[in-house]
Amino acid sequence: MSKKVVIASNNTGKLREIGRILGPLGIEAQPQGAFGVPECPEPHVTFVENCIAKARHASAHTGLPALADDSGICVDALNGAPGVYSARYAGEPKSDERNNQKLIEALQGQANRKAHYYCVMVFVRYADDPQPIIAEGAWHGEIIDTPRGSGGFGYDPYFLLPELGKTGAELPADDKNAISHRGQALRTLVEKLKQLG
Ligand code: IMP
Repeated sequence: MSKKVVIASNNTGKLREIGRILGPLGIEAQPQGAFGVPECPEPHVTFVENCIAKARHASAHTGLPALADDSGICVDALNGAPGVYSARYAGEPKSDERNNQKLIEALQGQANRKAHYYCVMVFVRYADDPQPIIAEGAWHGEIIDTPRGSGGFGYDPYFLLPELGKTGAELPADDKNAISHRGQALRTLVEKLKQLG
């Protein structure tokens, strides 16, 4: 496998996390922005389809193996919404604050507060790779009405881990990575990449 990989994301937080894990494997991760890759359409209704599309798109534009990640929060009482629309739940321009407001309003009077974050990661060796490597992770919690904590991002201040008594935003970054949907998916993906050699 080539040791250079393009990461199909422009999110600096994600890029840092992914680079830190791939670096020790001797894999040089470069963001798609460095190659001028245009934004990829995400027209699908599942995370995995959008993620495969993003990975193929980045590989097609660079000629390199590509790694993509797609994630979101799924709320049981809302039939899995906001799901793949998590980043833009309250419309454009995307805003964590308005997304959270909309979510809390949608759950007013709702006793079932169960939700989970989901993350899928896809690695393709070339744009038309018939065997993408796919890894996923899920992180279960509950949505609360009052935000707590200043860490993390997105829905974290409203995402309570009942067994820890803390929200995602109250966890130090390393603790979050150790148990989060994204951390789980990345570690599984790395194991699969190691098997590729
Ligand atoms: P994307 O994978 O960059 O499309 O992001 C999906 C959206 O899901 C983010 O913009 C957040 O709103 C939400 N999300 C995904 N992972 C997390 C997380 O770890 N904490 C908080 N929000 C998240």
